[in-house]
Amino acid sequence: MKAPDFSYEKPNSILGILSLLEKDELECQLLAGGQSLMPMMNFRMATPKTIVDISGVSELSLITETPKAIEIGAMVRYRELQDSDVIQKFCPLITMVIPHIAHPAIRNRGTIGGSIGLSDPAAELPAVLLALDGKVEVSSNKGIREEPANKFFKGVYETACSSNELITKIILPKAQPKQKFGFHEIARRHGDYAMAGVCIAQDQDLTVRVAFFGVAEKALRIASIEKVLSGNSIFSQSIIENAQSAVEDIQFEGDMNAGPEVKKHLAKVVLERALEGIK
Ligand SMILES: Cc1cc2nc3c(=O)[nH]c(=O)nc-3n(C[C@H](O)[C@H](O)[C@H](O)COP(=O)(O)OP(=O)(O)OC[C@H]3O[C@@H](n4cnc5c(N)ncnc54)[C@H](O)[C@@H]3O)c2cc1C
Repeated sequence: MKAPDFSYEKPNSILGILSLLEKDELECQLLAGGQSLMPMMNFRMATPKTIVDISGVSELSLITETPKAIEIGAMVRYRELQDSDVIQKFCPLITMVIPHIAHPAIRNRGTIGGSIGLSDPAAELPAVLLALDGKVEVSSNKGIREEPANKFFKGVYETACSSNELITKIILPKAQPKQKFGFHEIARRHGDYAMAGVCIAQDQDLTVRVAFFGVAEKALRIASIEKVLSGNSIFSQSIIENAQSAVEDIQFEGDMNAGPEVKKHLAKVVLERALEGIK
């Protein structure tokens, strides 16, 4: 199927994007890498009157190091994240995860802002953002605000970014020397959306954050699992089993791959494997 007719705009500044988004009658939708939006339009799941291509704004494609954080412009593509020395040094969890997102052709086009802005429950990067306790910079004509990761994802394809707002940056704290990270996902084939996955960050003070994806209506942290794991430098079999029991606290949602009971089983499996591989 082909997408219905639409108008196309390509502003060359953030202000230009924001002034288009303010005009309700244009019924705008932002176009980043197009790897989700274009298929959704072809299937008539999205029918914007106006597409606002944000790839003409160079400042949205920057990766910037600040004293405490790495700021990633919304238009930075997966491929650029994978190739970045700054990301490898200060956000190693991203480097671990990117090869599991789709296939090379999609990684050449898809962007971090598109993934965070879409909030697909089975996408990897929302869980990375949660595990790293990052923030999302959201801009509108009214100003700029920073939304903490744990308040940003609201549900299936639903976030705290409203239709007149633009995600401008993803802000992640720099990895500390003794911080450790774990990741595991199970997919039918490498590159498919995950049936279940988990991202883990263990801070220097042994605080642990655990974010699942592909098992519920959105990527989510589970406080009871984090409580079991925090304070331990090594995860013994009994600690892992206690953490697996706390998986019961997730409100599991089935999808085209599996029902809630299978998701529950897979959540336990990915948790154990990610903890065993933490480094
Ligand atoms: C075959 C296939 C397999 C895939 N497998 C995976 C996978 O395993 N894991 C995974 O995570 N993804 C997967 N994807 C999706 C892919 O990662 C997309 O690239 C991603 O979801 C969206 O990024 P994009 O830059 O292409 O955004 P687009 O498709 O351009 O936009 C997606 C949505 O986000 C909004 N948006 C974009 N940028 C912004 C912004 N700056 N501010 C606010 N809203 C914005 C758009 O308006 C749109 O609603 C797959 C896609 C395909 C086609």
